[in-house]
Amino acid sequence: MAKIQMKTPIVEMDGDEMTRILWKDIKEILLLPYIDLKTEYYDLGLPNRDATGDAVTVESALATKKYGVAVKCATITPNVQRMSEYHLHEMWKSPNGTIRRILDGTVFRAPILAEGIRSYVPTWKKPIVLARHAYGDVYAAVDEIAPAGSKAYLVLEDEKGKEVSRRLVHDFQDGAGVVQGMHNCEGSIRSFAHACFRYALEARIPMIFATKDTISKVYDGEFKRIFAEVYAEYEAQFERAGIWYLYTLIDDAVARVVRSEGGLLWACKNYDGDVMSDMVATAYGSLGMMTSVLVSPDGKYEYEAAHGTVTRHYYKHLKGEETSTNSVATIFAWTGALKKRGEMDGTPALSAFAEQLERATIRTIKEGEMTGDLIPLFHREGVTPKKRSSKEFLLAIQSRL
Ligand code: NAP
Ligand code: MG
Repeated sequence: MAKIQMKTPIVEMDGDEMTRILWKDIKEILLLPYIDLKTEYYDLGLPNRDATGDAVTVESALATKKYGVAVKCATITPNVQRMSEYHLHEMWKSPNGTIRRILDGTVFRAPILAEGIRSYVPTWKKPIVLARHAYGDVYAAVDEIAPAGSKAYLVLEDEKGKEVSRRLVHDFQDGAGVVQGMHNCEGSIRSFAHACFRYALEARIPMIFATKDTISKVYDGEFKRIFAEVYAEYEAQFERAGIWYLYTLIDDAVARVVRSEGGLLWACKNYDGDVMSDMVATAYGSLGMMTSVLVSPDGKYEYEAAHGTVTRHYYKHLKGEETSTNSVATIFAWTGALKKRGEMDGTPALSAFAEQLERATIRTIKEGEMTGDLIPLFHREGVTPKKRSSKEFLLAIQSRL
């Protein structure tokens, strides 16, 4: 066949360890033979981030602003141990954090479902997409130990430094305690709301947003108010698309989500999203089956797998041992980016190829060929699961593609 042509490049962000190995194999086995792949390549592998003083991360994020679509391999976030392992000049910041700050986006995480892979929640038949507001609240809070006898106030000053209000938080006359002050910004909440409503419309799935505004009347009340205001701009489109939006209390949301059959977008405040995304990911089975996309308020998209660089498998690989690392989330990061590129450029053949690749991947698992992490989760009448190595799994997909 003639290779599928691309109009505009995708920003390609290479990464580290086992996922870097998978990255190269995915391209060679599943992409390059079929697509005249146009990418603008940035090597976000830790050695190159160190060599460029992390400039490469910033450049790749700016390129995403320019081209609109990026695909990212998992990368190491350095810690003390990595400093000596890679002889780093500095403990570079998390690349995902840097990219998120530049694009100011919302992260949506969605599980990939395959027939035979059973969720721990039997009613969940369709994906639950979780959107986490990644700014403020307890993640940017200041706290203090309050000694016995002290008083804590919430003080607000105007732009000239004049006190506007002073409210007692607590008088610690009966003993010591602890206080915390946190904040959020209207602009950030507003762009989070826009990102969620847009995602739901595009995916044609209903949406739930929840806070605890019965208790946190002013703070969570602002989230509720802003979401209602932003929704007014989308209501007609939601009706036309045949989907709904529900605002409710977080406890009610948890109950509804567990009882649901999935197929919805769950928008969460920062802390709720932190906790619930791990719950949802675990309940669907394997980290290797969870994708993630960063969507900026001005419609730029960065696709990646939700898991890390799978260090343990990489060390085995370095010793010459065979690995069985799940590449599904990384493949779906590519297909997500290719589909979006095709949609933006008006090149349906590219989007169609991405769909085919997704179907071939799911069919491979359904028919019993999979990586080791999925074997214990697989139950399908008449099919005995066979464990494939990292590379064999990609070749099994290729044979179906
Ligand atoms: P991880 O790479 O997600 O791996 C944790 C464990 O989960 C693995 O040891 C493996 O379990 C299992 N696992 C994850 N992905 C898998 C896959 N695709 N196939 C099969 N099993 C998979 O998390 P980590 O070990 O905590 O972190 C490793 C590095 O990744 C760190 O340097 C961290 O900074 C980085 N990280 C990057 C990102 C990102 O770029 N988005 C996200 C998270 C972490 P078994 O060992 O039991 O097989
Ligand atoms: Mg968490």
